[in-house]
Amino acid sequence: MQSIATPTKTAEIVAKHHFMFRKKFGQNFLVDMSMLEKIVDSAEVTKEDVVLEIGPGIGTMTQALAERAKEVIAVEIDSALIPILKETLQEYDNVTVINEDILKLDLAALSAAHDGVPFKVVANLPYYITTPIIMALLEGDVPVESITIMVQKEVAERMQVGPGTKDYGALSLAVQYYARPELVCTVPPECFMPRPKVASAVICLHLYQTPPVSVRDASYMFRLIRASFNQRRKTLANGLSGEVSLGLSRGQVTEALQRMNLPEMVRGETLTLEQFAQLADLVMQKA
Ligand code: SAM
Repeated sequence: MQSIATPTKTAEIVAKHHFMFRKKFGQNFLVDMSMLEKIVDSAEVTKEDVVLEIGPGIGTMTQALAERAKEVIAVEIDSALIPILKETLQEYDNVTVINEDILKLDLAALSAAHDGVPFKVVANLPYYITTPIIMALLEGDVPVESITIMVQKEVAERMQVGPGTKDYGALSLAVQYYARPELVCTVPPECFMPRPKVASAVICLHLYQTPPVSVRDASYMFRLIRASFNQRRKTLANGLSGEVSLGLSRGQVTEALQRMNLPEMVRGETLTLEQFAQLADLVMQKA
């Protein structure tokens, strides 16, 4: 099938269906064929794979995925796009379009309906909900093999950085606990219709079978991490003891820091993932 990943073809389809781009759904459609190939190549989709695509738009990437995958499940929130997808995907019998908000969809049931085969997630994500989507995929109980996504360049950077940098935060730590991030390429605004104001990047998250650090209770560690970065300017001892839901006293935190040979005035943004895991285990014994 002739690709629709060009400005002319996309404009034609949009006009034919009187489709109005909706900013609130983060609709910036990919109109660059070579970039599309690059994303789909980097996802390493094969005829064995079940692909979950979030936000197919007019089906540009869906077509390319359907050519390579065993099956594609495409979840689109905007019902105005459903008749368009019917048309652009009519040649493919291995695509299921679900008209739903990805954050409301029962992913566990969807996975069970596919015998629990780990999904390869591929998406040009709507930027207004990038982090909630990534967290749902990482922290949910759905088997996922890899997540290849287009995001804002700045968000891709946040996923990869380590301690001591301004972009380091809860997202960096969550991504690096569950996956090995690999930057594929940066993508200029000209590759989209309409053009976004910011540069984008494609990043591939290869999910670990076993996380790189061991911790007794990962969800407690992430509560601790979130509390540390909510109070970014405070020392860890002040920030964590100030977070009532953790139930920690200042003394418990400083004692744990001492046992880790860390200064009392240390801030969360300088701790590695391993150190957060160690801290969580130490304070949990006392909480
Ligand atoms: N994949 C298409 C492409 O590359 O041309 C469109 C990408 S566009 C950046 C994001 C898509 O996600 C839009 O089609 C938008 O309607 C859809 N979307 C936005 N929020 C969504 C949500 N909560 N659940 C599912 N789809 C959503």
